[in-house]
Amino acid sequence: MSDKTEKNVQMENIVSLAKRRGFIYPGSDVYGGLSGTWDYGPLGVQLKRNIMQLWWKMFVDDRDDMHGVDAAILMNQNVWKASGHVDTFTDPLVEDLETKQRFRADHLVKDAGFAVDGLSNSELNELIIEKQIKSPNGNELSEVRTFNMMFTTTVGPVADEKSVSYLRPETAQGIFTNYKNVVDTLYPDLPFGLAQQGKAFRNEISPRDFIFRSREFEQMEIEYFVNPANWEESFSALLKDIHAYLEALGLPADKIHELEVPENDRAHYSKRTIDIEYDFPIGREELLGLAYRTDFDLKNIHENAGKSMEYTVKGTNERFIPHVIEPSFGVERAIMAVLSAAYREDEVNGEKRIYLAFPEHLAPVKYCVSPLLKNKPELVAKAREVYMILKKKHGNVMWDDNGNIGKRYRRQDEIGTPHCVVIDFESLEDNSVTVRDRDTTEQRRVSIESLNG
Ligand code: ATP
Repeated sequence: MSDKTEKNVQMENIVSLAKRRGFIYPGSDVYGGLSGTWDYGPLGVQLKRNIMQLWWKMFVDDRDDMHGVDAAILMNQNVWKASGHVDTFTDPLVEDLETKQRFRADHLVKDAGFAVDGLSNSELNELIIEKQIKSPNGNELSEVRTFNMMFTTTVGPVADEKSVSYLRPETAQGIFTNYKNVVDTLYPDLPFGLAQQGKAFRNEISPRDFIFRSREFEQMEIEYFVNPANWEESFSALLKDIHAYLEALGLPADKIHELEVPENDRAHYSKRTIDIEYDFPIGREELLGLAYRTDFDLKNIHENAGKSMEYTVKGTNERFIPHVIEPSFGVERAIMAVLSAAYREDEVNGEKRIYLAFPEHLAPVKYCVSPLLKNKPELVAKAREVYMILKKKHGNVMWDDNGNIGKRYRRQDEIGTPHCVVIDFESLEDNSVTVRDRDTTEQRRVSIESLNG
């Protein structure tokens, strides 16, 4: 199998497992779907929460220089005018002249084997003509034009220019607009960060690669406010913290790469950007970004909203608009990386087995509890007892008494449950149970008491 096909197969296996076992379903599936949207099932929502809560713990709870905010998704349209999104949050669009299907021009040019970084629309256009690049259906393409990716809506009963608003395309602006509120209420010392998790919406021209490029997704962002004299120190420290988080997600270090974004490719306000890329099954792609955004955003608010964004260093007369370092994580991309890092196939007792080797703290189900036989009331009663003890302690514990033990183990392997506990006749005698390990498939005999320890 070629490398590319192998990768596609791995991706397809993950997508199919995700649907089959209740992690992630295509959005609005019963009505034929809605492209670029995904719904999380019982296991997916738990995995997603574990990933987001770990982030919140490592970046907010465990630190004394970070605070959380949770801003509204709908914001005053001036936010997006001042930030530049109304004018420049665009992607290059081309249309298949036969089918009228639309594609990202830069993606088609890149897929045809040419570098696209920093190319303008007219340069993309020239390349498409010169290299005779066609649509994926083999048809001629239209001219490249600019497409704004924000979803527009109107707020209130009258739809006019003044009532226009947008579904936020990033969570960052909801942090910047609350910077002054937090300084006025908490007056934290610099440097300090404001963190937010929440939905973001982008009308991607061609959503693709499972949840990697969605139209509705979730972000985890920090705006870290610094004295401009010390930005480099904070940039390096945050980069280190990012790697610590990725390690806690169980991502292998050799699949994580730092890409120093060259100047002509960076947003005009950014003085330094590092994209963290990951070797996904679809290839090496951006997982998250770390950008030094200078004072671009706060200065915009300072000038456009007419409110001072200056910070006065405590006990001095030193006043300035803080500069900002922004780590920006995409939850869906983190989930996709975690799923692909955890996906394993091996052979047990001559049979092919699929399992998800999640780190224990991310596993959506921590324990599965079963009575050896489902028609023996005394075993079922004892197993319910153990189930309740574990459920009280860990929350997400599953009960499974269907089929034989081997089948139960396979089902739990596929959803990444680290421990399966089986209650048998011996358990009734001596209060011991069998605990089977997902990765090694080894079984240990332990006391019920030690499970609760
Ligand atoms: P890309 O170049 O892949 O479109 P981007 O550079 O536009 O991404 P940013 O604007 O820096 O992305 O957004 C920060 C993070 O949000 C990204 O690193 C990614 O993890 C996530 N993200 C952005 N767009 C999407 C999307 N359409 N679907 C899922 N996650 C996304």
